[in-house]
Amino acid sequence: MNDTLTLPKVNNFIDGKFEGIGNGTMDVVSPLDGKVISSVPMSTTEDLDNAVAAAKRAFKTWSEKTIKERVQVFFTYRNLLEKHQDELAKLVQIENGKTYGEALAEVLKSIELCEFAVSMPQIVTNEVQEVSKGVECRIERKPIGVVACITPFNFPNMVPHWTVPNAIVLGNTVILKPSEKVPLSTIRMAELLKEAGLPDGVFNLVNGGKEIVEAICDHPDIKATSFVGSTHVAKIVYRRATSNLQRCVALGGAKNHLIVLPDANPQMTADNVVASMSGCAGQRCMAASVMVGVDRVQHIIDLMVEEAKSIVPGKNLGSVISKEAKERIEAYITEAEQQGAKILVDGRGATVEGKEGGFYVGPTIIDYVTPDMKVAKEEIFGPVISIIRAKDVDEAILIENGSNYGNAAAVFTQSGGLARRIMEGASAGMIGVNIGVPVPREPFSFGGWNESKFGVGDITGKSSIEFWTQNKKTTTKWNPEDKTNWMS
Ligand code: NAD
Repeated sequence: MNDTLTLPKVNNFIDGKFEGIGNGTMDVVSPLDGKVISSVPMSTTEDLDNAVAAAKRAFKTWSEKTIKERVQVFFTYRNLLEKHQDELAKLVQIENGKTYGEALAEVLKSIELCEFAVSMPQIVTNEVQEVSKGVECRIERKPIGVVACITPFNFPNMVPHWTVPNAIVLGNTVILKPSEKVPLSTIRMAELLKEAGLPDGVFNLVNGGKEIVEAICDHPDIKATSFVGSTHVAKIVYRRATSNLQRCVALGGAKNHLIVLPDANPQMTADNVVASMSGCAGQRCMAASVMVGVDRVQHIIDLMVEEAKSIVPGKNLGSVISKEAKERIEAYITEAEQQGAKILVDGRGATVEGKEGGFYVGPTIIDYVTPDMKVAKEEIFGPVISIIRAKDVDEAILIENGSNYGNAAAVFTQSGGLARRIMEGASAGMIGVNIGVPVPREPFSFGGWNESKFGVGDITGKSSIEFWTQNKKTTTKWNPEDKTNWMS
């Protein structure tokens, strides 16, 4: 960590200005060492009203611009992200706790998301056809109005970029409510969007917690809300926003299964499974959480153990987000052990010299887990993998299908036929074949199934165009005197 990093002051950003607000503040703690690094203001519903009013005022001018005009800001903004990538990665690292490399990868992904947003004029070309002689039907994508994006702690820079650039490029004006645990990255996002030339009021930032999320769902002038976070809150937000007649897509938690077959390439599989479960300290909605080992896979498990032992907290493994998270993760491991599972690699009680106040959990591999155990069913959100043994592919698919989540699933094998069966049989929105973190890259869209996502469509890529726009259908006849046929 570079000691010269200047942390931005956290405030709301409304109508192009950072403003102080009132209902107290909450400490922002760096999970790297447990030290308070900033404070985040807890906004009031009045603050939200001000932001929505600003976004509403900005909507008319912004939405009337052509899409080719609107994307220009994001060409500049994309380059600013690139220019400041080192500083932005360090901010992610200090507020979230991941390693510098992981934080930088997150910022690079935000750059890719902006590259997709600036390509919108090539994709959103609308439709037109002469449906009868002299009669033309035309469909145009129009913005919806003021929209809101609510984001979680685990990707402070990337997840806001899943939604904000697309929503704005498509003509909407936005209120972003970041996680109160990681408010620093989005302050820089506001500053850089302004520097890139985004007009005041098009992007607004309202900090806070539950109260502001509820106010967003209830706000009569917010037309659509995207949410990314836990399933528990996703359900609350989806129900509340849609009951107030907003459009909503709400992405929830995950419990991703990696199915490992005996013919899988041993070293590549072991490396991928361990990287998937331990990357970002397991705090990824795409992280491997259960490995279903089919038949004879002991040789792969042995390699996984070796690989996991080379992952050291504070060196090539970041921290988890809080003391509570560390305690929760360790309690899951202890319960599995008490129920008879075998801990092959134990990450409990990890500390880092010089950062004793930080929240670290080492990589953990738990074998002989049974499907009824909590570690097999619940989202742990830490660097922990539970191994369930299955006798064949059918049993492995049944185990995967038993989860109420459905974000990702993956298979490791050399057999095309077996891979195909698992691709078909898995009940998840994103499937990997010999890939442990199967995140689709732009323009392919991101979104899970079952209790990992509520609402229609995905949150990124081409699928997001449907969510952030509405269709205007126009039927035109200019030459009534001309030769006509049906419906002319
Ligand atoms: P969280 O659900 O606790 O918080 C998400 C947002 O909701 C935050 O902005 C928070 O302020 C707000 N919030 C928290 N409690 C609330 C409540 N009771 N009522 C209203 N709003 C509330 O999630 P988190 O801990 O910040 O993030 C981790 C979770 O996010 C994990 O479950 C992870 O799987 C999930 N996640 C999912 C995806 C995905 O694509 N499916 C991506 C990233 C993270």
